[in-house]
Amino acid sequence: MIRLLGGEDRGLLTRPGMARGCELCFPGRKSVIFVTGLCGDTCYYCPVSRHRLYHDVMYVNEKRVRSLEEIVEEVTRSGSTGASITGGDPLAKPERTLEVIRMLKSVFGESFHIHLYTSGRYATSVLLKSLDNAGLDEIRFHPTLPGLEKRVELALENTSMRVGIEVPGIPGSEKWLLGLARYLDNVGGHFMNVNELEVSEANINQLASRGFKTGPGGVVVRGSRETILRFMELALREGIRVPIHYCPASFKDSIQTRFRMMLTGRSSHRIYERVEKDGTISWVEIIPPRKGRCRKAFSELVGEGIIFPSGEGGFLTHPEAIGHVREKAPGCGEFFLVKAHPTEPRLLIERTLLRP
Ligand code: SF4
Repeated sequence: MIRLLGGEDRGLLTRPGMARGCELCFPGRKSVIFVTGLCGDTCYYCPVSRHRLYHDVMYVNEKRVRSLEEIVEEVTRSGSTGASITGGDPLAKPERTLEVIRMLKSVFGESFHIHLYTSGRYATSVLLKSLDNAGLDEIRFHPTLPGLEKRVELALENTSMRVGIEVPGIPGSEKWLLGLARYLDNVGGHFMNVNELEVSEANINQLASRGFKTGPGGVVVRGSRETILRFMELALREGIRVPIHYCPASFKDSIQTRFRMMLTGRSSHRIYERVEKDGTISWVEIIPPRKGRCRKAFSELVGEGIIFPSGEGGFLTHPEAIGHVREKAPGCGEFFLVKAHPTEPRLLIERTLLRP
């Protein structure tokens, strides 16, 4: 029987033994480190933004970074206990990838869990050993060409890492998925993940030109989920022992990203910011009147540590302090409730005028 992982939007599993990287990803405890956009493949379904793909750029979560120090800073800010290393193909830049893994392990400790995605085309036994020695815990192959799945054996024979396959659920690909699962089972692979195929700005034209349609909400490919479920049933009926995990797109968007934002907000919010239940943050911006009528009241509130100069002539305060500010500085200026994502710099979502 296929098991639910705490509600279907969290995914399904054929057997216990989910990848450790996924367990940490559930509560948003993993930072996503995009080490390079370089990649030797041209998958038509690739969801990676064209601003990143084939460009040698680095990001942590949504933030562009340019050095190892900035990577550490952003991972610290997000409160993560692990990271997933992705791209492009991280192994297109092996030295950088090794450096990132070594640095994460040395700063955050051995228990900081790291997994990595690769097509496998650059995975030699020497490089796999180096990744293992650097501290990589888990490797996930996305075999983009026939035969690349054999890199799983190479990793199993040469390393102590957890080794699995992670692929998108392309509608109608049950036979291919079953072939990969049988192979993993034969060679003793540790897990298989199948992701619901997502639609993004980057792949929508390619998908449409191949006749794929979007499902409700326009963010997934219609038929992807059904293909994955059929494949899981077939794998169970055949007695395939390797645990197979279905990861729905809705989980990534609504749960995992929100949890990660909440952790980032909690670990890095400023004194005047409130972390909201949906992972965003909010604060109040005060625009004082032009004439200096309220100057004295505002300077007292700054002295009390209730409001903070914004640097643009205004002040910032916590949403719960607004009653106190209005009491001390009655009729002074305009108040706006600002909502933002906890990125650095903050990414504004909305700014609403608060009526007295
Ligand atoms: S291997 Fe991954 S990053 Fe490269 S083109 Fe394919 S889906 Fe995109």
